[in-house]
Amino acid sequence: MELSIDDLLAKVRVIARTPRGELLRQIVDLIYERVEQEYDDEPLTPEDLEAIERGREDVNQGRYITLEEYERKGENYRKPLKYTDIFSKMEATLKEESRLSEEDFERNWGIFKNYHYKNDSNDDIFWKLVQVVFYSGMKASIVTSRMPALKKYLYDYKKVKEYDTEFIDNIMNDQSIIRNKAKIDGCVKNAVIFDKIININGSFSNYLESFGDLEGESTLEKLKKDLKQFKFLGPITSYHFMLDLGLKVWKPDRVICRILKRLRLIDNLEDIDQAIRVGREIAVQVELPIRYIDIIFVMYGQIGEEKTLGLKTGICLEKNPRCSICRINEYCTYQN
Ligand code: SF4
Repeated sequence: MELSIDDLLAKVRVIARTPRGELLRQIVDLIYERVEQEYDDEPLTPEDLEAIERGREDVNQGRYITLEEYERKGENYRKPLKYTDIFSKMEATLKEESRLSEEDFERNWGIFKNYHYKNDSNDDIFWKLVQVVFYSGMKASIVTSRMPALKKYLYDYKKVKEYDTEFIDNIMNDQSIIRNKAKIDGCVKNAVIFDKIININGSFSNYLESFGDLEGESTLEKLKKDLKQFKFLGPITSYHFMLDLGLKVWKPDRVICRILKRLRLIDNLEDIDQAIRVGREIAVQVELPIRYIDIIFVMYGQIGEEKTLGLKTGICLEKNPRCSICRINEYCTYQN
Protein backbone atom coordinates (compact mmCIF):
# COMPACT_ATOMS: atom_id res chain seq x y z
CA MET A 1 0.00 0.00 0.00
CA GLU A 2 1.39 3.35 -1.10
CA LEU A 3 1.95 5.64 1.90
CA SER A 4 0.36 9.03 1.34
CA ILE A 5 2.42 11.63 3.20
CA ASP A 6 -0.36 14.22 2.84
CA ASP A 7 -2.89 11.82 4.30
CA LEU A 8 -0.51 10.96 7.16
CA LEU A 9 0.26 14.62 7.92
CA ALA A 10 -3.45 15.48 7.93
CA LYS A 11 -4.11 12.75 10.51
CA VAL A 12 -1.06 13.80 12.59
CA ARG A 13 -2.32 17.42 12.64
CA VAL A 14 -5.72 16.29 13.92
CA ILE A 15 -4.21 14.11 16.69
CA ALA A 16 -1.70 16.86 17.64
CA ARG A 17 -4.61 19.21 18.47
CA THR A 18 -6.14 16.67 20.89
CA PRO A 19 -5.00 15.69 24.44
CA ARG A 20 -3.22 12.73 22.76
CA GLY A 21 -0.90 15.12 20.92
CA GLU A 22 1.84 14.80 23.55
CA LEU A 23 1.70 10.97 23.39
CA LEU A 24 2.02 11.19 19.59
CA ARG A 25 5.08 13.46 19.87
CA GLN A 26 6.79 10.98 22.21
CA ILE A 27 6.06 8.04 19.89
CA VAL A 28 7.34 9.95 16.85
CA ASP A 29 10.57 10.97 18.71
CA LEU A 30 11.15 7.35 19.73
CA ILE A 31 10.66 5.95 16.24
CA TYR A 32 12.69 8.75 14.65
CA GLU A 33 15.65 8.08 16.99
CA ARG A 34 15.66 4.38 16.00
CA VAL A 35 15.32 5.11 12.30
CA GLU A 36 18.21 7.59 12.48
CA GLN A 37 20.45 4.95 14.03
CA GLU A 38 19.41 2.15 11.66
CA TYR A 39 19.23 4.04 8.38
CA ASP A 40 22.23 6.38 8.46
CA ASP A 41 22.97 6.36 4.73
CA GLU A 42 26.00 8.66 5.07
CA PRO A 43 28.26 7.04 7.66
CA LEU A 44 31.43 8.93 8.64
CA THR A 45 34.47 8.21 6.49
CA PRO A 46 37.94 7.75 8.03
CA GLU A 47 38.76 11.29 6.74
CA ASP A 48 35.68 12.68 8.54
CA LEU A 49 36.73 10.97 11.75
CA GLU A 50 40.26 12.32 11.37
CA ALA A 51 38.91 15.86 10.82
CA ILE A 52 36.73 15.55 13.93
CA GLU A 53 39.76 14.42 15.93
CA ARG A 54 41.81 17.35 14.61
CA GLY A 55 39.01 19.74 15.56
CA ARG A 56 38.91 18.31 19.08
CA GLU A 57 42.66 18.75 19.37
CA ASP A 58 42.42 22.39 18.14
CA VAL A 59 39.80 23.12 20.80
CA ASN A 60 41.89 21.40 23.49
CA GLN A 61 44.98 23.36 22.45
CA GLY A 62 43.03 26.62 22.59
CA ARG A 63 43.40 27.40 18.88
CA TYR A 64 39.63 27.43 18.32
CA ILE A 65 36.54 27.57 20.46
CA THR A 66 33.40 25.48 20.07
CA LEU A 67 30.27 26.97 18.50
CA GLU A 68 28.50 26.68 21.85
CA GLU A 69 31.26 28.65 23.58
CA TYR A 70 31.25 31.24 20.79
CA GLU A 71 27.48 31.71 21.10
CA ARG A 72 27.72 31.94 24.89
CA LYS A 73 30.44 34.60 24.82
CA GLY A 74 29.04 36.73 21.98
CA GLU A 75 30.38 37.49 18.55
CA ASN A 76 33.06 39.93 19.74
CA TYR A 77 34.59 37.30 21.96
CA ARG A 78 38.22 36.48 21.16
CA LYS A 79 39.58 33.47 22.95
CA PRO A 80 42.90 34.36 24.56
CA LEU A 81 45.59 32.50 22.69
CA LYS A 82 48.39 30.80 24.48
CA TYR A 83 50.86 33.65 24.20
CA THR A 84 53.43 31.76 26.25
CA ASP A 85 53.45 29.01 23.65
CA ILE A 86 53.66 31.44 20.72
CA PHE A 87 56.41 33.48 22.31
CA SER A 88 58.56 30.56 23.43
CA LYS A 89 58.31 29.06 19.93
CA MET A 90 59.40 32.36 18.35
CA GLU A 91 62.37 32.47 20.71
CA ALA A 92 63.17 28.84 19.94
CA THR A 93 63.10 29.49 16.17
CA LEU A 94 65.45 32.44 16.55
CA LYS A 95 67.80 30.46 18.78
CA GLU A 96 67.87 27.60 16.33
CA GLU A 97 68.55 29.88 13.39
CA SER A 98 71.22 31.93 15.16
CA ARG A 99 74.73 30.68 15.34
CA LEU A 100 74.81 31.38 19.07
CA SER A 101 74.91 28.95 21.93
CA GLU A 102 72.09 29.17 24.49
CA GLU A 103 74.49 31.03 26.84
CA ASP A 104 75.62 33.53 24.19
CA PHE A 105 72.03 34.15 23.09
CA GLU A 106 71.14 34.91 26.69
CA ARG A 107 74.22 37.08 27.18
CA ASN A 108 73.49 39.19 24.09
CA TRP A 109 69.72 39.41 24.22
CA GLY A 110 68.84 38.62 27.82
CA ILE A 111 69.92 42.15 28.77
CA PHE A 112 66.59 43.32 27.40
CA LYS A 113 64.87 41.33 30.15
CA ASN A 114 66.47 43.63 32.71
CA TYR A 115 65.45 46.90 31.13
CA HIS A 116 64.09 48.90 34.02
CA TYR A 117 64.72 52.47 35.01
CA LYS A 118 65.32 51.37 38.60
CA ASN A 119 68.49 49.56 37.44
CA ASP A 120 69.80 52.69 35.70
CA SER A 121 71.77 55.72 36.86
CA ASN A 122 70.70 59.17 35.64
CA ASP A 123 73.48 59.03 33.01
CA ASP A 124 72.28 55.60 31.82
CA ILE A 125 68.79 57.01 31.38
CA PHE A 126 70.09 60.06 29.56
CA TRP A 127 72.07 57.76 27.26
CA LYS A 128 68.87 55.85 26.47
CA LEU A 129 67.26 59.17 25.56
CA VAL A 130 70.22 59.97 23.26
CA GLN A 131 69.86 56.59 21.55
CA VAL A 132 66.15 57.11 20.96
CA VAL A 133 66.95 60.47 19.34
CA PHE A 134 69.55 58.92 17.01
CA TYR A 135 67.63 55.78 16.09
CA SER A 136 64.60 57.84 15.16
CA GLY A 137 64.34 57.99 11.37
CA MET A 138 67.77 56.47 10.74
CA LYS A 139 68.90 53.06 9.61
CA ALA A 140 69.28 50.98 12.76
CA SER A 141 72.41 49.10 11.63
CA ILE A 142 74.27 52.38 10.93
CA VAL A 143 73.27 53.91 14.26
CA THR A 144 74.26 50.76 16.15
CA SER A 145 77.71 50.73 14.57
CA ARG A 146 78.31 54.41 15.48
CA MET A 147 76.94 54.36 19.02
CA PRO A 148 80.23 53.56 20.82
CA ALA A 149 81.82 56.63 19.19
CA LEU A 150 78.86 58.83 20.14
CA LYS A 151 78.89 57.56 23.69
CA LYS A 152 82.26 59.29 24.26
CA TYR A 153 80.53 62.64 23.81
CA LEU A 154 76.93 62.14 24.83
CA TYR A 155 76.75 59.87 27.88
CA ASP A 156 77.36 62.28 30.75
CA TYR A 157 74.44 64.72 30.75
CA LYS A 158 76.20 67.18 33.07
CA LYS A 159 79.01 67.57 30.55
CA VAL A 160 76.69 67.58 27.56
CA LYS A 161 74.57 70.45 28.90
CA GLU A 162 77.70 72.65 28.91
CA TYR A 163 78.62 72.06 25.26
CA ASP A 164 78.91 75.32 23.34
CA THR A 165 78.81 75.93 19.58
CA GLU A 166 82.59 75.61 19.27
CA PHE A 167 82.63 72.24 21.03
CA ILE A 168 79.75 70.96 18.93
CA ASP A 169 81.64 72.01 15.77
CA ASN A 170 84.62 69.98 17.00
CA ILE A 171 82.42 66.94 17.56
CA MET A 172 81.06 67.35 14.04
CA ASN A 173 84.59 66.86 12.69
CA ASP A 174 84.80 63.39 14.18
CA GLN A 175 84.25 61.00 11.27
CA SER A 176 83.47 58.05 13.53
CA ILE A 177 80.17 59.51 14.78
CA ILE A 178 76.87 60.22 13.07
CA ARG A 179 77.42 63.81 12.03
CA ASN A 180 73.85 64.98 12.31
CA LYS A 181 74.03 68.48 13.77
CA ALA A 182 70.30 68.77 14.45
CA LYS A 183 70.36 65.61 16.55
CA ILE A 184 73.50 66.61 18.42
CA ASP A 185 72.04 70.08 19.14
CA GLY A 186 68.85 68.35 20.27
CA CYS A 187 70.80 66.16 22.70
CA VAL A 188 72.53 69.20 24.18
CA LYS A 189 69.17 70.92 24.71
CA ASN A 190 67.81 67.67 26.17
CA ALA A 191 70.73 67.57 28.63
CA VAL A 192 69.69 71.01 29.90
CA ILE A 193 66.06 69.88 30.37
CA PHE A 194 67.21 66.59 31.92
CA ASP A 195 69.40 68.46 34.41
CA LYS A 196 66.49 70.69 35.43
CA ILE A 197 64.32 67.63 36.06
CA ILE A 198 67.02 66.07 38.25
CA ASN A 199 67.44 69.31 40.20
CA ILE A 200 63.71 69.45 40.91
CA ASN A 201 63.11 65.74 41.64
CA GLY A 202 66.46 64.46 42.91
CA SER A 203 66.65 61.74 40.22
CA PHE A 204 64.98 60.79 36.96
CA SER A 205 63.39 57.79 38.71
CA ASN A 206 61.74 60.15 41.20
CA TYR A 207 60.50 62.27 38.32
CA LEU A 208 58.93 59.19 36.66
CA GLU A 209 57.31 58.07 39.89
CA SER A 210 55.97 61.56 40.59
CA PHE A 211 53.30 60.81 37.94
CA GLY A 212 51.78 58.07 40.10
CA ASP A 213 51.30 54.36 39.52
CA LEU A 214 53.39 53.63 36.43
CA GLU A 215 51.42 50.44 35.77
CA GLY A 216 48.30 52.49 35.00
CA GLU A 217 47.45 53.57 31.46
CA SER A 218 46.35 57.09 32.44
CA THR A 219 49.63 57.68 34.31
CA LEU A 220 51.61 56.54 31.30
CA GLU A 221 49.61 58.88 29.08
CA LYS A 222 50.38 61.83 31.41
CA LEU A 223 54.04 60.92 31.42
CA LYS A 224 54.10 60.59 27.65
CA LYS A 225 52.70 64.12 27.28
CA ASP A 226 55.31 65.52 29.64
CA LEU A 227 58.17 63.79 27.83
CA LYS A 228 57.35 65.83 24.77
CA GLN A 229 59.34 68.67 26.35
CA PHE A 230 62.44 66.82 25.12
CA LYS A 231 63.64 67.53 21.60
CA PHE A 232 62.92 64.74 19.10
CA LEU A 233 60.42 63.03 21.40
CA GLY A 234 57.22 62.91 19.37
CA PRO A 235 54.27 60.55 19.91
CA ILE A 236 56.16 57.48 18.68
CA THR A 237 59.65 58.25 19.98
CA SER A 238 58.19 58.95 23.44
CA TYR A 239 56.83 55.41 23.43
CA HIS A 240 60.26 54.10 22.44
CA PHE A 241 61.89 55.97 25.31
CA MET A 242 59.28 54.66 27.77
CA LEU A 243 59.80 51.17 26.46
CA ASP A 244 63.56 51.51 27.04
CA LEU A 245 62.78 52.63 30.60
CA GLY A 246 61.05 49.28 31.13
CA LEU A 247 57.56 50.75 31.32
CA LYS A 248 54.58 48.73 30.11
CA VAL A 249 54.11 50.41 26.78
CA TRP A 250 54.62 49.13 23.30
CA LYS A 251 54.49 51.03 20.06
CA PRO A 252 54.41 48.25 17.54
CA ASP A 253 55.86 49.14 14.15
CA ARG A 254 54.94 47.67 10.76
CA VAL A 255 57.12 44.61 11.31
CA ILE A 256 55.46 43.74 14.61
CA CYS A 257 51.95 44.48 13.34
CA ARG A 258 52.56 42.23 10.34
CA ILE A 259 53.38 39.28 12.58
CA LEU A 260 50.43 40.00 14.88
CA LYS A 261 48.09 40.19 11.91
CA ARG A 262 49.34 36.93 10.44
CA LEU A 263 48.72 35.30 13.80
CA ARG A 264 45.19 36.79 13.91
CA LEU A 265 46.08 38.68 17.09
CA ILE A 266 44.99 41.95 15.49
CA ASP A 267 42.28 42.51 12.91
CA ASN A 268 44.11 44.96 10.70
CA LEU A 269 47.58 46.46 10.35
CA GLU A 270 46.39 49.95 11.28
CA ASP A 271 44.84 48.99 14.61
CA ILE A 272 47.73 50.13 16.80
CA ASP A 273 45.57 50.28 19.96
CA GLN A 274 44.67 46.62 19.58
CA ALA A 275 48.35 45.81 18.97
CA ILE A 276 49.31 47.70 22.15
CA ARG A 277 46.75 45.74 24.16
CA VAL A 278 48.05 42.45 22.75
CA GLY A 279 51.63 43.46 23.63
CA ARG A 280 50.63 44.10 27.24
CA GLU A 281 48.76 40.80 27.39
CA ILE A 282 51.79 38.91 26.03
CA ALA A 283 54.00 40.62 28.64
CA VAL A 284 51.59 39.64 31.42
CA GLN A 285 51.35 36.01 30.29
CA VAL A 286 55.05 35.43 29.60
CA GLU A 287 56.04 37.49 32.65
CA LEU A 288 58.78 39.39 30.83
CA PRO A 289 59.29 43.11 30.16
CA ILE A 290 57.71 44.36 26.94
CA ARG A 291 61.18 45.56 25.88
CA TYR A 292 62.32 41.94 25.52
CA ILE A 293 59.13 40.93 23.74
CA ASP A 294 59.57 43.87 21.38
CA ILE A 295 63.13 42.91 20.44
CA ILE A 296 62.19 39.28 19.78
CA PHE A 297 59.30 40.34 17.50
CA VAL A 298 61.50 42.85 15.69
CA MET A 299 64.24 40.29 15.10
CA TYR A 300 61.65 37.79 13.96
CA GLY A 301 60.26 40.04 11.25
CA GLN A 302 63.19 42.23 10.35
CA ILE A 303 64.84 41.95 6.98
CA GLY A 304 68.62 41.89 6.78
CA GLU A 305 71.49 40.50 8.75
CA GLU A 306 71.60 40.64 12.55
CA LYS A 307 75.29 40.14 13.32
CA THR A 308 75.04 39.93 17.10
CA LEU A 309 72.53 37.15 16.72
CA GLY A 310 74.26 35.46 13.84
CA LEU A 311 71.10 35.68 11.72
CA LYS A 312 71.33 36.23 7.98
CA THR A 313 67.82 37.65 8.01
CA GLY A 314 64.60 37.47 10.04
CA ILE A 315 61.96 34.75 9.80
CA CYS A 316 58.56 36.35 9.22
CA LEU A 317 59.57 38.60 6.32
CA GLU A 318 57.08 40.65 4.37
CA LYS A 319 57.89 38.80 1.14
CA ASN A 320 58.80 35.14 1.15
CA PRO A 321 58.54 34.53 4.90
CA ARG A 322 60.52 31.50 5.99
CA CYS A 323 57.50 29.49 7.08
CA SER A 324 59.18 26.11 6.71
CA ILE A 325 61.44 26.81 9.70
CA CYS A 326 58.89 28.86 11.69
CA ARG A 327 57.66 27.11 14.80
CA ILE A 328 54.53 29.23 15.13
CA ASN A 329 53.09 28.24 11.75
CA GLU A 330 50.36 26.27 13.54
CA TYR A 331 48.95 29.63 14.72
CA CYS A 332 49.44 31.44 11.45
CA THR A 333 46.87 32.29 8.80
CA TYR A 334 49.36 33.43 6.19
CA GLN A 335 49.35 31.33 3.03
CA ASN A 336 52.87 31.04 1.74
S1 SF4 B 1 54.29 30.74 9.42
FE1 SF4 B 1 55.33 32.13 8.00
S2 SF4 B 1 54.00 33.91 7.80
FE2 SF4 B 1 53.36 32.73 9.63
S3 SF4 B 1 54.42 33.67 11.35
FE3 SF4 B 1 55.70 31.98 10.62
S4 SF4 B 1 57.10 32.89 9.11
FE4 SF4 B 1 55.43 34.35 9.47
